[in-house]
Amino acid sequence: RENSTVSITVVGASGDLAKKKIFPALFALYYEDCLPEHFTIFGYARSKMTDTELRNMVSKTLTCRIDKRENCSEKMEQFLGRCFYHSGQYDSEENFAELDKEIKKHEAGRLSNRLFYLSIPPNIFMDVVKCASKSASSANGWTRVIVEKPFGQDSESSAALTRGLKQFLVEDQIFRIDHYLGKELVENLSVLRFSNLVFEPLWSRQYIRNVQLIFSEDFGTEGRGGYFDNYGIIRDIMQNHLLQMLALFAMETPISLDAEDIRNEKVKVLRSMKPLQLEDVVIGQYKSHTKGGFTYPAYTDDKTVPRDSLTPTFAAAVLFIDNARWDGVPFLMKAGKALHTRRTEIRVQFRHVPGNLYRSFGTDLDRATNELVIRVQPDEAIYLKINNKIPGLGMRLDRSNLNLLYAARYSKEIPDAYERLLLDAIEGERRLFIRSDELEAAWALFTPLLKELEEKRIAPELYPYGSRGPVGAHYLAAKHKIRWGDLSSEHYKI
Ligand code: NAP
Repeated sequence: RENSTVSITVVGASGDLAKKKIFPALFALYYEDCLPEHFTIFGYARSKMTDTELRNMVSKTLTCRIDKRENCSEKMEQFLGRCFYHSGQYDSEENFAELDKEIKKHEAGRLSNRLFYLSIPPNIFMDVVKCASKSASSANGWTRVIVEKPFGQDSESSAALTRGLKQFLVEDQIFRIDHYLGKELVENLSVLRFSNLVFEPLWSRQYIRNVQLIFSEDFGTEGRGGYFDNYGIIRDIMQNHLLQMLALFAMETPISLDAEDIRNEKVKVLRSMKPLQLEDVVIGQYKSHTKGGFTYPAYTDDKTVPRDSLTPTFAAAVLFIDNARWDGVPFLMKAGKALHTRRTEIRVQFRHVPGNLYRSFGTDLDRATNELVIRVQPDEAIYLKINNKIPGLGMRLDRSNLNLLYAARYSKEIPDAYERLLLDAIEGERRLFIRSDELEAAWALFTPLLKELEEKRIAPELYPYGSRGPVGAHYLAAKHKIRWGDLSSEHYKI
């Protein structure tokens, strides 16, 4: 509205995330004309910087989309002209009151809306929320706070954080970000299911044999393991990103696309699952590996990681949803660093065709069941593996793909997840943010396991850097008569 302003304060503006993701996403929104007419961006951190220094720092990471290069530098200049910096302590109400004054100058008496993005380590969340809400919140519009993971370490610390935040904010003001929910293909999950007739009828134990949620990175911590070592892959990837994808995948049809309706359905899925047991999980840690004359380091070679660290850099787990739709269907999760490939995907393996007439015509048709793959990143794609007759006079079958490769179908560059999430937060759309009861249910599933792993000091299975991960993951799947789709011999890149 003409008479309103939005002031966005990036707290921790001197940090990595602000530079890499937040400022570039804000610029992309500006370029696309998605930001309100009157907006101002403030960087806030302890480091001393002038506005010009902030602008110089930020300008290095701004880019224009490939398909939108015209006026790019002009737009950048305009955008940077609306970025300001205020240096202050995180626990100083006085410093936040100074920030408030600066913000007010730019608001120039218009209706004031304020968004704080906490891009800082979690131990200072509470200080900032306290000071910002006491000294720099809006007097006549909305005040919202985006919080970055980690949201605690386990059920207790997460509940304490939620209680702390709620001393100063109501639930509707808290936007817990899980950037996976902003990814194009994750958002598309519901469209695929609920706006196509062909998928939803198959979306149950009746036709689906198992579902696999896979995250792999082809690099290790590379000297930045300090943060990671306190968390490990289960907290860093599984408990949030993979579990969120699982909940969206498995939820019942929500009453509407309203945030509360969707989040209600996700919570039901999470609460229908039993906490993970030790026997449902395999953990691993990468070790050094020499290939082609180059030696890749072990996790514990990272100088920021203790030499005797038992922190898992890989984990695989089997979960079950105890409801009518999914009873008995294994949901497998796998997440790892320093693996042979970089990929995030959901693989849905369907049941065998009962009494298959063509059993004797393929090489291994009994196992060649249909598989739907939703590749979240990189090279976004959705493809369905089907059995097909090889053209010719004889009757031979093979496996082919019905294939929707985004790069081939859509010429538009896909926006970064942070763009969508920032825009949603500005617009007050909560659908893609985590509600506190969702978070509680998510931690309840993983906390007993994490405690047991740590109390018993369970040693992870070592796997070579750049490999396919520990063999234990293969046995875990085999226990449920499953093979990992991404490792099967017929897996090929499309
Ligand atoms: P960062 O660079 O370590 O920290 C951001 C800023 O916070 C720093 O520039 C520093 O600013 C201040 N800071 C750092 N350590 C502090 C301490 N011990 N006490 C007080 N202030 C401190 O973090 P980041 O990588 O930008 O990430 C920010 C948040 O996002 C973190 O919570 C992180 O877990 C989360 N996150 C990051 C990524 C990523 O890709 N980087 C991805 C997902 C989530 P001053 O010294 O100038 O005050």
